Amino acid sequence: MVGGDAPISVQTMWKRPLSSARSLEQTLAQIHSLEEIGCEILRFSVPDLESAELLGRLTTQCTLPLVADIHFDHRLALRCLDFPVAKIRINPGNIGGEDKVEELVRKAADKGVPLRIGVNAGSLPKGLRQEKDVARAMVKAAEGEMSLLEKLNYRQMIFSLKAADVDTTVEANLLFSGSYEYPLHIGVTEAGPLVQGTVKNTLALSRLLENGVGDTIRISLSDSPENEIIAGRSILQNLGLRSFGPDLISCPTCGRTVFDVTGFLEKVQPYLRRIHKNITVAIMGCPVNGPGEAKRADLGVTGANDQVVFFKKGKIIRRESADHAIEAFKEELEKF
Ligand code: SF4
Repeated sequence: MVGGDAPISVQTMWKRPLSSARSLEQTLAQIHSLEEIGCEILRFSVPDLESAELLGRLTTQCTLPLVADIHFDHRLALRCLDFPVAKIRINPGNIGGEDKVEELVRKAADKGVPLRIGVNAGSLPKGLRQEKDVARAMVKAAEGEMSLLEKLNYRQMIFSLKAADVDTTVEANLLFSGSYEYPLHIGVTEAGPLVQGTVKNTLALSRLLENGVGDTIRISLSDSPENEIIAGRSILQNLGLRSFGPDLISCPTCGRTVFDVTGFLEKVQPYLRRIHKNITVAIMGCPVNGPGEAKRADLGVTGANDQVVFFKKGKIIRRESADHAIEAFKEELEKF
């Protein structure tokens, strides 16, 4: 479920063409791995019939809701609707005349499949491209699509109004949500590489989510879908809107470091992501500031001379050599 009282979901997008060259098993395995780290909705571009057929087969073999992203050719959307797709993302303005939109909307209504109307600042309808107020132009574009679908008595819509900058994205979504109750998929589009894109999305999404705006999020990064999911979950968890598992505290390291904090984190993070217990975990690098933070956590480790010291709820519970620290850490986590 998206919208209403449903939890704000985290989604990402498949980043390669769907091609029969890659086996269905391999694709399903990667989908499963995305699901394991918290992907709740996964979208696929469907540029041709082969992709529609492959996506269709995937929808019948996995539990994760899969979404078809369609541009220009409404027949691809019609084919996807023969399968249990969770949603179709379209821009009604670019799939041809009203007769084509009507055919698609009727089939989506018959199948009970929602449509996402995706408005992007970079591809506004011709009549709105010259408008100075881009956020308002985006809302007008959404309204145009909305009235077209409402005329057909179709209401199962979700909207997205995305720009590549923070302010326009926030303004457009605030304007829209001030007038309409349709759910919103939010995110800054084409936000950039991992760090810059995460910062842009964090700024925009925290302004929106703290105002109660947004029902599902996608962090668009020039990076892996895994990192999009990790960033999205982290934003929601830090805003107190969802709780996904351990809160990780780790030191930035400095000249006092006697323990490879970065290497340890690299090895334990994939494991931590699959744990759904709400505990705090601290990974610290030295005996100067490490013990204080490690003591406050439910499970803390800190380097101390040639050892790694483990704390559980404030008490030292074991000491290990760096070589055995990972195994010991996993054992202690299991006890939670
Ligand atoms: S905990 Fe120790 S190693 Fe880590 S940043 Fe602080 S002083 Fe440096």
